[in-house]
Amino acid sequence: MGCGISTEQHGDSTPITVVAPLSQAVSEANTLMLSEDKKYLSKVCSLSERSTCEQVLQSLLEGNARFIKGTRAHPHQDFSRVRQISEKQKPMVAILGCADSRVPTEIVFDQGFGDVFVCRIAGNIATSEEIASLEYAVLDLGVKVVMVLGHTKCGAVKAALSGQAFPGFIDTLVDHIDVAITRVDMLGVKAYQAVREGNTEVLDMVVQENVKYQIQRCQRSTIIQEAIQKHELLMVGAVYDLDSGIVNVIVTKGGNSFDL
Ligand SMILES: [Zn+2]
Repeated sequence: MGCGISTEQHGDSTPITVVAPLSQAVSEANTLMLSEDKKYLSKVCSLSERSTCEQVLQSLLEGNARFIKGTRAHPHQDFSRVRQISEKQKPMVAILGCADSRVPTEIVFDQGFGDVFVCRIAGNIATSEEIASLEYAVLDLGVKVVMVLGHTKCGAVKAALSGQAFPGFIDTLVDHIDVAITRVDMLGVKAYQAVREGNTEVLDMVVQENVKYQIQRCQRSTIIQEAIQKHELLMVGAVYDLDSGIVNVIVTKGGNSFDL
């Protein structure tokens, strides 16, 4: 009865699902957790208020490494954590990522409840509202890392590269990616044509350029800019590979070791 649910057969042969009390299910789960697992978890969850921006980023990337290796620790995913943070959240990281269902942030970085302040929108574009959310994370929650996370084969970037007109409000979304396309074009690459011909390398170039451009947009925020100047915030641009599961950091700005 590990999951706290069992099925009983009765006289009229109608199965009845019996749900065990929640406390019993939690107690069983805790018993199953071996002391070695607990030691491993405490090592994984070793970040504190005194951790540097770079240590916070390192911890996030270590979570991605566990995900790739199939050794996820599932930190902060039990009900005691839910109760612990119900009054106040204190995440160390904010991530602006794509809404794509293949990039679930907490799973990719092996994080749990209260660990990551996540803003997801197609194309990981930094609209005013998304930047405002990040500003809240920096100013009020005190996150030490803000990451813009793009991913390979991004549908929103592909849509922008198609050059088509879209119905509804979709045009407003792809408009935010046009600058990245122009910048790749300026490198002498005919991005629209290349991607139309199935050139995935050029698509990846635009994905990377889009991450860099959205970071620049975030940096227009005086709140974010001041946090960087005070050595209190590290901005990170990264790309998640849909095939390998690896998150590759492509650009960083600021951090505790940042020299003015
Ligand atoms: Zn995407």
